[in-house]
Amino acid sequence: MPEFDLKGRTAFVTGASSGLGRHFAKVLAGAGAAVAISARRVDKLQEVRAEIEQHGGRCTAVALDVTDEARIAPALDEAEAALGPIDILVNNAGMNVPGPSLDLAVADFDRIIATDLRAPFLLAREMGRRMIARKQRGRIVNIASIGSFRVLPGMTAYCIAKAGVAMMTQCLAREWVRYDITVNAICPGYIETELNDTWFNSEKGKEQIKSFTRRRLQQPEDLDGLLLLLASDASRAITGSVLTADDAQSL
Ligand code: NDP
Repeated sequence: MPEFDLKGRTAFVTGASSGLGRHFAKVLAGAGAAVAISARRVDKLQEVRAEIEQHGGRCTAVALDVTDEARIAPALDEAEAALGPIDILVNNAGMNVPGPSLDLAVADFDRIIATDLRAPFLLAREMGRRMIARKQRGRIVNIASIGSFRVLPGMTAYCIAKAGVAMMTQCLAREWVRYDITVNAICPGYIETELNDTWFNSEKGKEQIKSFTRRRLQQPEDLDGLLLLLASDASRAITGSVLTADDAQSL
């Protein structure tokens, strides 16, 4: 289906040095998009870039700490200088400090909100400004979580941030629908990445996996269809949608 083809598109993916972001960058490149990958660990980004280029893709790596608002516009400038105007943003960078709320340091609460909520807003806003100024169709895909709409034990600040991302998705979608910019969110279930691998390799983590509806962790590939839908022309009438793809974990 040509509508899913991303040839001629340019994507910017945050948090592409590991886990889901790394996977998303490769999926977008595989569908034909030029991909700017960003994160703090530039050595890891260079590995991803090499992999994408080996498969014939176009890629550039940009150092960006998403909590540093002064770096956001220059990072997008760098990406656009290398690959051309960005028309797909994947707001994926995220982190968590697990534990009970009573023990959560204020600095950790602030870091979670800054990374998981404030940063995606600032990135979306800067991208929105550029897309509107260029009268360009745009796709913004926010990586939320099943924690956007249900309690994940020991992850209160993270759930607060992800609930905010879900609402932000709807608010920005409404503001920008007239500019042909769609804003949607994907809510994955638990997938083993650097974010949680210590936990899921612990005895308690393994017990938690047995409590999931399908008794297993989700795989990154489970998100590919939704990512390509939301990044491509095929989703032109889908905006403000917060879509769950969680291997039935939240049922
Ligand atoms: P990882 O820890 O593997 O990846 C997180 C990515 O975010 C890394 O590339 C990291 O790069 C980047 N990152 C973290 N902080 C910053 C920062 N301040 N500035 C720039 N980049 C940053 O975790 P996942 O792949 O699992 O997480 C990706 C997204 O998916 C997150 O938003 C997460 O909340 C969401 N998610 C994950 C689920 C899961 O079960 N894994 C389930 C639901 C949602 P670097 O350290 O190099 O900067």
